[in-house]
Amino acid sequence: MPIDTEALKTLLPDDLKSRLSTLLEKQGVVTLVVDASGLDQLGRDKLEVAAKGALRGAEGVREVRVAMTADKAPAARTGPRIIAVGSGKGGVGKSTLSANLAVALARLGLRVGLVDADIYGPSQPRLMATEGQRPSAHDEKLVPLDTPFGVRLLSVGNLVEPGKAVAWRGPMAGGALGQLLDAHWDNTDVLVIDLPPGTGDVQLTMVQKHKPDGAVIVSTPQDLALIDATRAMNFFAQTGVPVIGVVENMSGYVCPHCGEESDPFGHGGAKAVAGVEGVPFLGHIPLDLAIRQESDAGRPPAAGDSPQGKAFMAIAQKLAAWLEQLA
Ligand code: ADP
Repeated sequence: MPIDTEALKTLLPDDLKSRLSTLLEKQGVVTLVVDASGLDQLGRDKLEVAAKGALRGAEGVREVRVAMTADKAPAARTGPRIIAVGSGKGGVGKSTLSANLAVALARLGLRVGLVDADIYGPSQPRLMATEGQRPSAHDEKLVPLDTPFGVRLLSVGNLVEPGKAVAWRGPMAGGALGQLLDAHWDNTDVLVIDLPPGTGDVQLTMVQKHKPDGAVIVSTPQDLALIDATRAMNFFAQTGVPVIGVVENMSGYVCPHCGEESDPFGHGGAKAVAGVEGVPFLGHIPLDLAIRQESDAGRPPAAGDSPQGKAFMAIAQKLAAWLEQLA
């Protein structure tokens, strides 16, 4: 006589019912697929014992097998979440975006750290008004600098004289970047990493050693920049880092004198590429003289409520929502 699997399910304890994905029966062998996410080994063992205990005596059941999904119990998370900001090439506004996203996330109430890993052109000391300051060390680890914007910062630019870091290659660069990440980032919710542009060895080592939870890709709208941005997306996909989304920077220009809008680099290309690649489009930042001037003066627009600041804030809100769903 066939076994009524629905009747079998009613025999299971409630905590098992809520985790049950599938219950199959074949010739008296009952197989349960159970979602064990978040459980440690003891919790999984208990579920298995409970399942077998509940079904073993049931009519027609010869054997009970339990398969757990989410094979590894997740290790307890320590340390901050990491968001890498990457680009296929330099000069597209990756550092500007990293700084302003960090500031905006801090304004949203997160405890934010910013790591300037752009060894070829560390610009965060200027953007975050900490030029000439040196981080101290404690227990052989660097102590991040406080910035005026509620964000803590470690930058290659605060460790070496301007222009010196460019000569670093390979292991030396990897070692220096490691120090920025293995620092005193306690009490930090999220670390924003301003990666060096491109997809070379330095980026690879960094991403493998300190795996980001996700990456934001920044591109300008020109075709050439978009090809590089696609390469950056593939790089993250290949290294197992989810792409949170794409930001189009220098997108559309409003003339400060006449107010006329023009598109020196085009408009909307990054959105189209995001669509083709199947990743979210997070928003665009216009090409705006005020952004460059404020950035150069060490006043990230995201610290205020100007239209430029709001553009960064809108993207930061999407990041905050993304972080929330990870928790
Ligand atoms: P990257 O980190 O990709 O090399 P940067 O963030 O250093 O790029 O930006 C390069 C230059 O462009 C800087 O002078 C910066 O102030 C300027 N810039 C970046 N984004 C904008 C923008 N949306 N409008 C105007 N200037 C910008």
